[in-house]
Amino acid sequence: MVNPVVRDILKRYTQVWALGHSMAVLGWDTETHMPEAGSKPRGMASGQLAVLAQKATVSLDPLVKKAEKARNLDDWEMGIVRVLRRSLDYYLKIPPELVDEIQRVTTEATVVWRTARKKSDFRLFRPHLENIVRLQREVADRLGYSGHPYNALLDMFEEGFTVSDADDVYAALIPKSRRILEKVTAEGIYPPKHPLESVVYDTEAMARVNGDVVELLKMPADRFRMDVSTHPFTTQIASDDVRITTRYEGRSFKESLFSTIHESGHAIYGLGVGAKLAYTPLADGASYGVHESQSRFWENVVGRSREFVRLLRPTLGKNLPFVKRYDDEQLYLYFNTVRKSFIRVEADELTYNFHTAVRYDVEKKIIAGEVTPSEVPEIWNDTFDEYLGVRPKNDAEGALQDVHWSGGSFGYFATYTLGNIVAAMIWHKMKDGDAIREALEKKDIISLKKWLGTNIHRYGATYPPKVLQTKVFGEAYNTDRLLAYFEKKFLA
Ligand code: MG
Repeated sequence: MVNPVVRDILKRYTQVWALGHSMAVLGWDTETHMPEAGSKPRGMASGQLAVLAQKATVSLDPLVKKAEKARNLDDWEMGIVRVLRRSLDYYLKIPPELVDEIQRVTTEATVVWRTARKKSDFRLFRPHLENIVRLQREVADRLGYSGHPYNALLDMFEEGFTVSDADDVYAALIPKSRRILEKVTAEGIYPPKHPLESVVYDTEAMARVNGDVVELLKMPADRFRMDVSTHPFTTQIASDDVRITTRYEGRSFKESLFSTIHESGHAIYGLGVGAKLAYTPLADGASYGVHESQSRFWENVVGRSREFVRLLRPTLGKNLPFVKRYDDEQLYLYFNTVRKSFIRVEADELTYNFHTAVRYDVEKKIIAGEVTPSEVPEIWNDTFDEYLGVRPKNDAEGALQDVHWSGGSFGYFATYTLGNIVAAMIWHKMKDGDAIREALEKKDIISLKKWLGTNIHRYGATYPPKVLQTKVFGEAYNTDRLLAYFEKKFLA
């Protein structure tokens, strides 16, 4: 028997859901099929829908307040109330003028950022960053926080995650990762470069490989589709309609391959959310970090393993003839080159978390007012040097590399590393990878999906990430699992 107030909430929530559904389709179309000149009307329509969604959500406030006083709510009902309170918090505490200003400032900043990165000139971007930081601090003040103002921003991406959590995670992870990285680099088994990185491929042939890969991953043809976009993404349009995109640069086929596997991991999560959660605020992932753990699990733990290379061999051999010149071990090494690079999106498993650590450090100081935007390039390079022992030569390969700041996203980057940690916690649960290896040797993808579905996916956003992780693993974050995974994979 559903609590009557929650039942009323869900009845009225259908409108919010329908608006979100429509915006998701528009957003997907914008990135995949829309002709360029469609962007202006698309912007107008999306803006109007966003206003309607905000109004429809705010109108739920009295009912949500009532439900918050109700006793004997079950986990599902409490989850609905909690998730709605989080969006109400944002809508009620951040006035429309501020939302508007953020929208205007970030739209312009993103255009300037592109030019600034191309010219590798931080000075062009600096005044925009100053505005964005001012607005982000205002958002933090209005949302409220205890301790560090950055906590308010971290919480928007990872509910309940704080500066003190992140400090603990990085303090436990970085020094030991550095020792592993130095050893792996000194051993020279995992090469810094591989000849396949420069081999050109035929896009249509690669599209057939990606088609076979989603089939190998048992993506359901009637609930899933794959298209092409500049930056790969996943969008959950409904519980039975999840879409991914991939990209084709035409060189080094692993980039396209692992984009497909990564986004499929996000899609598997979306498709695994319980049917009871459809059309409710819970029909989503638990957090950015948990979502990323799913994509990283499939991309890295599964996709970059020796067993998966063997599963890929038939389609690679059939569609990309040049691959025949390389044996399975060579392909495995191509998938797992290890090098200290400056660009996060090109980073391998071992160096990836250094990149997020640098951004986390710098962001935290900016939001605290300890670093001004004009000092950012210098501080960025110093921090990068301190962490990885190499120094970016210019702004393009330093502080300007990622789009996030220009879009006003402060507090995002740590969730990438949380994704890596939680993926390794899953690896640990699966007998330090033995259960994964056994499943892949039998080409048994379904049993892996079943484990994830039963333990993580079916709950959707019912529980906050730390609660969900504690339920599954008995603890929220354990960096030792990621370190153990690195050691077993790269050093054993
Ligand atoms: Mg992702």
